[in-house]
Amino acid sequence: MTEIAHFIDNARVAGTSGRSQPVFNPATGEAEKTVALASTDEVNAAVASAKTAWATWSKTPPLRRARILDRFKMILWDRADQLAEAISAEHGKTHDDAVGEVTRGLEVVEFAVGAPHLLKGDYTEDVGTGVDSNSVRQSLGVVAGITPFNFPAMVPMWMFPVALACGNTFILKPSERDPSASLLIAEWLAEAGLPEGVFNVVQGDKEAVDALLSHPDVKAISFVGSTPIAKYIYETGTANGKRVQALGGAKNHMVILPDADLDMAANALMGAAYGSAGERCMAISVAVPVTDDVADALIERLVPKIEALKVGPAANKASEMGPVVTKAAQEKIVGLIDKGEAEGAKIVVDGRGFTPPQGYENGYFVGPTLIDKVTPDMTVWKEEIFGPVLSVVRRKDYAEAVDLIHAHDYANGVAVFTRDGDAARTFAHDIEVGMVGVNVPIPVPMAFHSFGGWKQSLFGDHHMHGPEGVRFYTRLKTITTRWPTGVRTDPEFVMPTMG
Ligand code: NAD
Repeated sequence: MTEIAHFIDNARVAGTSGRSQPVFNPATGEAEKTVALASTDEVNAAVASAKTAWATWSKTPPLRRARILDRFKMILWDRADQLAEAISAEHGKTHDDAVGEVTRGLEVVEFAVGAPHLLKGDYTEDVGTGVDSNSVRQSLGVVAGITPFNFPAMVPMWMFPVALACGNTFILKPSERDPSASLLIAEWLAEAGLPEGVFNVVQGDKEAVDALLSHPDVKAISFVGSTPIAKYIYETGTANGKRVQALGGAKNHMVILPDADLDMAANALMGAAYGSAGERCMAISVAVPVTDDVADALIERLVPKIEALKVGPAANKASEMGPVVTKAAQEKIVGLIDKGEAEGAKIVVDGRGFTPPQGYENGYFVGPTLIDKVTPDMTVWKEEIFGPVLSVVRRKDYAEAVDLIHAHDYANGVAVFTRDGDAARTFAHDIEVGMVGVNVPIPVPMAFHSFGGWKQSLFGDHHMHGPEGVRFYTRLKTITTRWPTGVRTDPEFVMPTMG
């Protein structure tokens, strides 16, 4: 059985820890590969290599760094299908969805190619007589990215293109559930001309993560994953003196006001709730129709669409939704639907007991599910389900809808569907959520803006990619200069002032 390796100094390196775990194909339920799980020593070797590489990479002119990323971008364009196939085989998402993921990641590479402009500093002439001041942004050193299973290519690309463009060297610790994409990315970066040690991959689990969190030469950690782990990463990393941005879980609501275009809202909900089997941090998992009439009309539109959704393996090009990632995820999702029913919600479309297509009987499929009459005391509202399950929480007016959203601990994304510009503006301004869509169900910011939620959906001060990414991966230095023509001859013993 193939073992998925680490990648250090531009080469695949077999694991030496003696620990590994199986990697499953979620469509068939078969373990087709294993992944090496790094020991602390293996992580330390990767960090040492990245530290050595930083000495040269950080001094490489930004334009030359950007040109390597530009070549990587062209390789990605040409081989998006190959990367998408690797993603689908371990994650389960459909091919077109995986290509979409690669494209959204590639857009961050495009953004990072503009780094020479982004790294320009400030200069002020004559802050005092004959004295000038300039500020520059410099790289941090070795930085690490710890990423989740649901976007094995895009989420790493939220991080490393910006980190590398800014002059850092990078260690990626991908999800152990779908690790193959990381190796393709690493090999293509090397092919594009990235020097040895600048981008390394350590496969692994908690041991590898803890080794990164405690290593003194790792200066910053970017994390994306579930909230309990995000909180742990933030607390441990900052306690060890590191800069940390840790993005956590989500429960994204979509408010449908009475004047909304309901056909538009229903179509938007189909993609946002069931695309990628609901395993997106920006998936809409709660529809909040305002008034019972709107709720009834919306559900009437949704039900036939949900029942017609084509669920199957990525290998079948007609599939619109694939399996969920693991048997444990499948059982958790089914268990939460059971709980919703037991707590009094109404299961309108039931994805439990879904019959997979022939040949895929052991795949981790859950059919698309719609639950009505969900209330805020129910587990299905409180917990992130991370599966193809849409809950409907009926509200009687706008204020109740806003209160519901504010009552949740998560605040990643939110959407409002309305034709009323006044209501939309008020909502966008007042809602306490990091990313807001107005008639846009999944408002994932483009690469040149920044991505991140509020409250329990993000621990740290910086969102990812865009200008916030550049700030996260650089530190500011301010240099004040006087040349001999401006020198005062008398010694000064008071606090220097430039005025
Ligand atoms: P996860 O938290 O289980 O794993 C994320 C990473 O943390 C993996 O690399 C994993 O190996 C590592 N990890 C897991 N347990 C650990 C532990 N005890 N100690 C140290 N490291 C550990 O998340 P997941 O299941 O892979 O991904 C799904 C979650 O990610 C969902 O909650 C989803 O909302 C979230 N997510 C959030 C965003 C966002 O932008 N906010 C984006 C994508 C996914």
